Amino acid sequence: MRFLSIAALALLSSVPRAGAALNVVASTEDVADLTRQVGGDRVKVESIARGYQDPHYVEAKPSFILKLAKADLLVVVGRELEVGWLPPLVQQSRNARIQVGADGYLDASLTASILEIPTGQITRAMGDVHPLGNPHYWLDPGNGRHAAKAIMDKLSRMAPADAAYFASRYADFDRRLGEAEKRWDALMAPYKGLKVVSYHRSWPNFTDRFGLDVIGYVEPRPGIPPSPGHTLDLIAEMKRQSVKILIVEPYFDLKTPNSIGRATGAKVVVMPPSVGGEKDITDYIALFDHNLALLVAAIRETGAK
Ligand SMILES: [Zn+2]
Repeated sequence: MRFLSIAALALLSSVPRAGAALNVVASTEDVADLTRQVGGDRVKVESIARGYQDPHYVEAKPSFILKLAKADLLVVVGRELEVGWLPPLVQQSRNARIQVGADGYLDASLTASILEIPTGQITRAMGDVHPLGNPHYWLDPGNGRHAAKAIMDKLSRMAPADAAYFASRYADFDRRLGEAEKRWDALMAPYKGLKVVSYHRSWPNFTDRFGLDVIGYVEPRPGIPPSPGHTLDLIAEMKRQSVKILIVEPYFDLKTPNSIGRATGAKVVVMPPSVGGEKDITDYIALFDHNLALLVAAIRETGAK
């Protein structure tokens, strides 16, 4: 093998292997699960980021490069969520199939509805603002459906003999997600317009979808740690608007959120934004089951309306 050039290797490995499952690497556990939902036993999926990690900052490991080197397909969240860590890994994998724009590269955001696309010029002073919009779009189940459909289309092109299988898996996922959405809508119906605060801007798609109103963030700007001045302003605003729910992603320090909670009487709710963020979050639908149950329990506990 060592006598073959990279180009020859790419050619060899692009020969379709009848009956073999496609090797898929996903950047996060969310797109990994959506790929499993659609791909079933015709795919072997590994994810790079763990569900309890901050997906903006993932420590690069040599093992990731090895996984990428063998991949037939790379599925990414996109919108620059992974811009800080994934591009060098993909490059170092020297796998021509999965480079940006190649047939084995899928940006799952392309068919999603994306919020917070900035207008006008972006400056460093704005913090870690994503020029392509908010990358946490998978937290709207409608976007999970769009991403699953894009994955189905991609897998069907890569393994046309299995297209009917992928289509029926997608239809089943779509049906289960639709049933779950009815359940979630009923659960959240009493809390339309409820005001909340979150640590990072991870939840705009989630709060839009479920009718919550985010009035502020613990981070003064995305990716910028809390500052005393901003925290005091936030406490004042939360008191003024009687905000009783403070959502925190599990990878942030709870010191500032807890002090805000003590000052305002708000309940700090640690909500994992990804599959695998807690033991019971075993798949995409369970992610919403887990978080909505947590949220509703906290709302009832605080008596917030
Ligand atoms: Zn973010």
